[in-house]
Amino acid sequence: MPRILLCSTTTGYQLRSFGDAARELGIELMFATDRCHALDDPWRDNAGAVRFHETDASVAAVVDAAATRPVDGVIAVGDRPVVMAARVASALGLPWHPPAAAHASAHKRLARERFAAAGLPSPASVQATVDADIDRLSRGLPYPVVIKPVTLSGSRGVMRADNAGALAAAFQRLSALLARPAIRAQRTGAEDEILIEEFIPGREYAIEGLLTRGRFDCLAIFDKPDPLDGPFFEETIYVTPSRAPRDTQQAIENAVADASAALGLSHGPIHAECRVNSRGVYVLEVAARPIGGLCSRVLRFRSGDATVSLEHVLLRHAVGDDVSGVRRESAAAAVMMIPIPRRGMLRSVQGDDTARQVPHVEDVRITAKPDQLLEPLPEAGSYLGFIFARAGEPEAAEQAVRDAHGLLVFNVDAAIEVRPG
Ligand code: ADP
Repeated sequence: MPRILLCSTTTGYQLRSFGDAARELGIELMFATDRCHALDDPWRDNAGAVRFHETDASVAAVVDAAATRPVDGVIAVGDRPVVMAARVASALGLPWHPPAAAHASAHKRLARERFAAAGLPSPASVQATVDADIDRLSRGLPYPVVIKPVTLSGSRGVMRADNAGALAAAFQRLSALLARPAIRAQRTGAEDEILIEEFIPGREYAIEGLLTRGRFDCLAIFDKPDPLDGPFFEETIYVTPSRAPRDTQQAIENAVADASAALGLSHGPIHAECRVNSRGVYVLEVAARPIGGLCSRVLRFRSGDATVSLEHVLLRHAVGDDVSGVRRESAAAAVMMIPIPRRGMLRSVQGDDTARQVPHVEDVRITAKPDQLLEPLPEAGSYLGFIFARAGEPEAAEQAVRDAHGLLVFNVDAAIEVRPG
């Protein structure tokens, strides 16, 4: 039975989905996760747990485990494990993104440098650290700009500033975020680094793709129909297939293939974000991992006579099957990442049963827990839950998730702030 190593920070839906796909395919999964306390038997073979900030020791532990239980392929789930997955694959001689490419993909400054060096459209940027003299730095910038941390993800800490005063305020806010103990604890090695870059206007798209020994295959292009103009950049709705003109879609695919090559990514799933305007396609990032969490449920594929999940396709790819003939189903699909309405304690969510009855809605999943402190972007960026819809046309799927969202009532109490001294 082929065995795939899953490097993951999550214990939730996506791992279950990989588990289901592995059972369908007769593949054994071996897990490397830093969430062992949350899993009964994370590795299922009693090997040690990993810590993504201690990459050397973690890679050694996994390579050791693989000596007795050989691994046929790897997959990274979530942003943090991409570098470790790449190093394990390299140590075991398995096809996967090279470690340097995986590292650059998760590091916004390195990614910008690689794109610019390859001559790809890229926003002008300046780098800084949290102790920079922001008054000096803010002079003469081509406003509006976007300020962002180099290594966080999910739009955390990403803010638009339209003038020097707004940039100074955003800089203070980002510095405070980066000083939080939970962020220091991630020990990425670049948590003090900040990037300030030209704001790229335009429509935004997300791309799900697979690289096979350097060849790029696009699995889906998602429209993001809600404007993402700032000051913060919360993702809400993804709709596929894209309604962009065919030549724009082709330009997006070409740009993501070029950006992946510029980073050196070569084998495995990628999830990219880009903005398109009259000057061209600007790839903002290419992550060396699939779309995250529950969102992947929006994608379904035709494989022969069967309808299969993204995780099914990825596992087949990881064991070396040719999946180039796999196509997304013909239905249109939409997912809404339910935004956090405001900071506070979530008391309850009402209306989800009614929302599930909206035509074309497949599911409404509230993932935030009662009495959980909700914190919106830019400081924290999880979602309240997800709404899924499938319909004949993208417009109907999009409207269905909007209608369902309109039926939900969120009871959020103001959080009581306790400040020391
Ligand atoms: P993350 O990896 O945290 O998602 P990104 O750099 O991809 O960070 O930025 C998150 C979002 O912020 C993007 O999807 C986009 O909407 C917006 N954004 C980031 N950089 C720019 C930019 N230079 N111009 C316009 N919007 C941007």
